[in-house]
Amino acid sequence: MPDGISPPKPRALRRPGELVAAGLLPPASLAGAQAVAARYAIAVPAALAARIEHPQDPLGLQFLPDPAELVTAPHELADPVADEALSPVPGIVHRYPDRVLLKPLLACPVYCRFCFRREQVGPEGGVLAPAALEAAYAYIAARPAIREVILTGGDPLILSPRRLGAILARLEAIPHVEWLRIHSRVPVAEPALVGEGLLAALVTEKPLYLAVHANHAREFGPEANAALRRLAGRGIPLLGQSVLLKGVNDSEAALADLFAAMLRARVKPYYLHQLDPAPGTARFHVPPERGRELLANLRGRLSGTAFPIYILDRPGGLGKIPL
Ligand SMILES: *Cc1c(COP(=O)(O)O)cnc(C)c1O
Ligand code: SF4
Repeated sequence: MPDGISPPKPRALRRPGELVAAGLLPPASLAGAQAVAARYAIAVPAALAARIEHPQDPLGLQFLPDPAELVTAPHELADPVADEALSPVPGIVHRYPDRVLLKPLLACPVYCRFCFRREQVGPEGGVLAPAALEAAYAYIAARPAIREVILTGGDPLILSPRRLGAILARLEAIPHVEWLRIHSRVPVAEPALVGEGLLAALVTEKPLYLAVHANHAREFGPEANAALRRLAGRGIPLLGQSVLLKGVNDSEAALADLFAAMLRARVKPYYLHQLDPAPGTARFHVPPERGRELLANLRGRLSGTAFPIYILDRPGGLGKIPL
């Protein structure tokens, strides 16, 4: 465990043998899961594992390894949104003039089988060394056009509160940085991490927005909802970020339930992403026409506040466009 990352509490299931022993995968799937584990990171935190009823249910599909991940379709790309090409210094991705991504680490509390950064993320951490972090601050400080820094990864909320607080303090001390944003799966995947230490680290002078990644209503259990309530109680506006995924949320009922679960948890749906074509993710693909149809059919059935923007991140670093 690299210094500065809080140990997951409770422990996550990481080895295929553990997934079989826990009854999440049938024994016949062991060899296939081991082949996947040799290439991609696996972690299912206990809180999520308890909510999986079947490998093919909306949570099993998102988090349990499947041999289909080892088949790369012709259109799939190792770096679908060109993060690497747009990285002027390690840890920074700069595509739009007014905002940058800062990736302080590449570890996550859970590894999603459809992740667009799946070739980069893993438990080794990919923690930016102090000198690289200084270079990232200097890059931002030297560019007055940058008004927003978006912490992503990996998942910034698994950093120790001390380290996360230090990063936020450095960023908000840069005069032209007007607001901050964090993208995280911790509130649904590891809600126990949202304790006093983390909440205190998230108290900033400048506005801080938190975009929570969730794709199915069942991710919002009582612990997740309580964690989100604690975050909202500290004055942190909560945004919802989802990916349209075949078998997980590609029906009117599943999307309506997801967006309602977010609103109940004080989370405003922000983006519904078209899946990025990362290697081995074809089984999750939903055609954009189908996504448009689903959202159009939900109009009138759901509060306007429940609607996210359906967004495509164009391959090759061309940027996001609404679909
Ligand atoms: C997605 C993304 C952002 C954030 O975009 P918003 O539309 O503001 O949410 C910023 N920089 C990069 C490189 C991105 O990929
Ligand atoms: S939490 Fe985010 S970065 Fe991590 S595996 Fe899931 S989608 Fe990828």
